[in-house]
Amino acid sequence: MGVRVDLRSDTVTQPTSAMRAAMMSAPLGDDVFGDDPSVNALQERIAVLTGKEAALFMASGTQSNLCGMMAHCERGDEYIVGQNAHTYRYEGGGAAVLGSIQPQPLVQNADGQMSLGDIAAAIKPDDPHFARTRLLCLENTWNGHPMPQSYLQQATDLARQHGLAAHLDGARVFNAAVARGGDALKNLRNIVDLFDSVSICFSKGLGAPVGSALCGSRALIERARRWRKMVGGGLRQSGLLAAAAHHALDHHVDRLADDHALAQRLAQGLAGIEGLKVRSAQTNIVFVDVADGRGPDLLAHLERHGVRATGLIGLRFVTHLDVDEAGIDHAIACTQAFFAQGASGSASQAAGTAVY
Ligand SMILES: *Cc1c(COP(=O)(O)O)cnc(C)c1O
Repeated sequence: MGVRVDLRSDTVTQPTSAMRAAMMSAPLGDDVFGDDPSVNALQERIAVLTGKEAALFMASGTQSNLCGMMAHCERGDEYIVGQNAHTYRYEGGGAAVLGSIQPQPLVQNADGQMSLGDIAAAIKPDDPHFARTRLLCLENTWNGHPMPQSYLQQATDLARQHGLAAHLDGARVFNAAVARGGDALKNLRNIVDLFDSVSICFSKGLGAPVGSALCGSRALIERARRWRKMVGGGLRQSGLLAAAAHHALDHHVDRLADDHALAQRLAQGLAGIEGLKVRSAQTNIVFVDVADGRGPDLLAHLERHGVRATGLIGLRFVTHLDVDEAGIDHAIACTQAFFAQGASGSASQAAGTAVY
């Protein structure tokens, strides 16, 4: 078998041997009792990095966003969120189903931004006809786009003026911080300082096998801790997992720039191909629109040659820790070959459209 490269998501990474070693040697305790030194150290560290009072280690980003939203809102409250935002579209409707929190989804532009006018118009007056608008949820990066600081500032200012809290789904906020260039941790602070709470994934570009953190005020985190237990996220010797996240913070932050460079390399390699339109490569995600409904055939062709991606009309390629230049060059070469043959072929198995 030739070169194989899995570009479906940055969630597919395998823990490195150094990360596995860190996991195996982590001191452990029962975290439901608050006894796990590795979990406690991670929570303190990520709270300091984000400039928040406290943090809570979570099983997943979905759980972290859910517990965060439930800690901000009560039954009958409402959150404002993008129509295509993860917390609205890709989390099973958890805020509504489990939290009795009504979503108010709004249209987003190509960069993922809701207009300030739409946000302002969606905030309900205090009137028993309406749900109580309590929270604005933003996402950064969104579809690989780092949100401009000016937009984040304006949107969160608007939320504050209306007494709303602001939560950031920062699953890939380290990618946004690194993409700005310079001191990534300083950039991170500039972004998250605008928000009351932030959820960060360790299991995406940072390369840990499991885990996210919710960061916010001590009071918010204590409320979230109760919800986390209720949704089954009270883990025991989870220091095993926290140690992986700790290792990721030590070794895998600055190297996100390598993922971004590989995404750039892929985007440039695909840019010249007739029949393709490359949409974004600012961080580690590249979207490619495929003309003439040939997306599924291209995907199947790539799969046969050891290149995995997701999508249907628009294909999505995500770079990560387990991707190198050889893999990217192979993906480019296979794509060129597909269009060079002018292969049309029969419609192949449909690929999923979900964005993980
Ligand atoms: C991956 C992701 C999440 C949550 O991820 P889990 O798979 O539940 O860990 C949340 N928001 C965004 C934007 C994501 O990409």
